[in-house]
Amino acid sequence: MTKITSLEQAVQTYGVEHWGAGYFGINKQGHLIVRASKDDSRVADVKEIIDHLVGENKVKLPILLRFPQLIASQVRALREAFVQASREFGYSAPHLAVYPMKVNQRREVVEAFLQEGRKYGYGLEVGSKAELYAALALDQPPESLLVCNGFKDEAYINLALLGAAMGKNAVVVLEKLNELNMFLRLSADATRKPMLGARFRLYSRGSGRWEKSGGETAKFGLTTTELLEVIRQLREHHRLNELKLLHCHIGSQVTDIKRLKNAIKEAARVYAKVRKMGVDIEYLDVGGGMAVDYDGSKTSYEASANYTMQEFANDVIYIVASICQDEHVPEPTIITESGRILTAYHAMLIINVQDEIETVIDEIARTDVDEDDPQAVVELRDIRDTINVKNYREYYHDALEQKDELFTLFNLGYIDLEDRAKGEVLFWQILEKVERFARTSKFPSEEFNDLKKLLASKYLCNFSVFRSVPDAWALEYLFPIMPIHRLNEPATEFATLVDLTCDSDGIIDQFVDLREVKEVLEVHPYDRQPYYLAILLIGAYQEAMGSFHNLFGTVNEADIIIDEEGRFHVQKLIAGHQIGTILDLVRYDRQTLLDGFRRNVMNAVQWSHITEEQAGQLLESYQRLFHNYTYLE
Ligand SMILES: *Cc1c(COP(=O)(O)O)cnc(C)c1O
Repeated sequence: MTKITSLEQAVQTYGVEHWGAGYFGINKQGHLIVRASKDDSRVADVKEIIDHLVGENKVKLPILLRFPQLIASQVRALREAFVQASREFGYSAPHLAVYPMKVNQRREVVEAFLQEGRKYGYGLEVGSKAELYAALALDQPPESLLVCNGFKDEAYINLALLGAAMGKNAVVVLEKLNELNMFLRLSADATRKPMLGARFRLYSRGSGRWEKSGGETAKFGLTTTELLEVIRQLREHHRLNELKLLHCHIGSQVTDIKRLKNAIKEAARVYAKVRKMGVDIEYLDVGGGMAVDYDGSKTSYEASANYTMQEFANDVIYIVASICQDEHVPEPTIITESGRILTAYHAMLIINVQDEIETVIDEIARTDVDEDDPQAVVELRDIRDTINVKNYREYYHDALEQKDELFTLFNLGYIDLEDRAKGEVLFWQILEKVERFARTSKFPSEEFNDLKKLLASKYLCNFSVFRSVPDAWALEYLFPIMPIHRLNEPATEFATLVDLTCDSDGIIDQFVDLREVKEVLEVHPYDRQPYYLAILLIGAYQEAMGSFHNLFGTVNEADIIIDEEGRFHVQKLIAGHQIGTILDLVRYDRQTLLDGFRRNVMNAVQWSHITEEQAGQLLESYQRLFHNYTYLE
């Protein structure tokens, strides 16, 4: 049997091949690599990219790396999946995708989508006025759709009218009945009208976190009665020919294909019945929801997906085709609104480990106990010295009792800080031994399960969970995390990752694993040299949902293109927030800050705490730091 190398071990430990979808891997140097498209030979070394950015361009960490080629590759894969499915089931009408902007509205992301999607007539989906406003300025292919979802007011509908007037194939999708009256009134005199769509409230539900987006109590969409009323009113106004699209969407990250299939069955049936009422529906929009397999387990678990893009496309086409045949109605053009699956892969955040937060620092810990030390300290020392594999359970319980005693005596004033410190160190030394014994035991008792996490290192990382991976906090979502270098060295430490915010929730202590969820991440010993970790698959939703907790701002960004020879090119650098720019968002504009600081400094001069000259220097420093990055440098 050959010994497994550290590299092979790293591939297993971090599961790159499971969640990487053919885009990520590890090279011989022990670095994380990215491929320009699935299983491509054009490969870039992430460590080299970061060294280049930090060295040549003086870009500070954390850095968000964007690979627009991965968006293009996903769009291509979606296209190919539907072409393949249509061929297989002899489906005659086209498939058109629209990109839901809310998934990631960054201009670079939407442009990357459109650049590839243009070839296939792919368009955009918006859910608010601001998204629509941006979409009207973007360059869509002429045959593509601009689907306008979300709750609407007059201005929203007027924007859609603008879109139609300038030649876009805008579709105003009714979420509520009262939007119809508004639409009929505002568009009455328009020569080029937007098409009308109706979102239908499906009885079917999704699975996973967004299950309640579907079902009869969903927030969105028309009930059966309302849909019939829409048709009645349109007929009455002789405008029934404007209703062209039926829409449904059962939620995001639908992990179980069964749920999607049920929803599509129902939607196709609704389409057929409406069609039979004499309404010329052209488009059946089956919404988004295709899930990303974040943990690589290929299951219906929340962080995963039990199906592929091809399977999804096959099911959509097959179901719609067979129901149309059954009902003798024409096949509709199929619209999909998948966003997560298209953008998740393209972005990764590179963070550096800033420090390690240690419970016991060996170099400064003192445990020399003499006999007149408090009884609890002496006892803890004895436990530490005599604990062994046979007695560790009993001694562990004794240690817990002595530790309680130690703190009780401290609170009563019987023990000084020196003794308290000694007791604490001894207790942690005992825990480390207990954990070792428990690990080697054949039948470890449950009470020791938490020790591994308790004793794991805490790596203090230069980022904010709330800014960069909000779903890790809000939804306990899992994103793959791994070092981008040293992967040819054994990862001998276990750590949780704490962020810079003053919030105990600012921590990542759940990590992807094929079979379970890991509570600690395998890492390399932190030796005060730059140590970089990547948080991957964060291209969907994280940027838009991120918040400015503690005023950590947006991060520095680099768009990277990989060429035929596998060389990377920094296509664009976008600076993250500076202290000054983030403060502006909470209404401290530059002048307010400088005036306020000057006033306070002048007060100090008046009270003779400092001289005028010192005041000038302080003001200068203050001004200079206005431009500092909000993260640690
Ligand atoms: C959010 C949303 C989508 C995108 O869903 P994904 O899970 O990202 O594919 C599509 N359509 C509508 C109406 C949405 O609200």
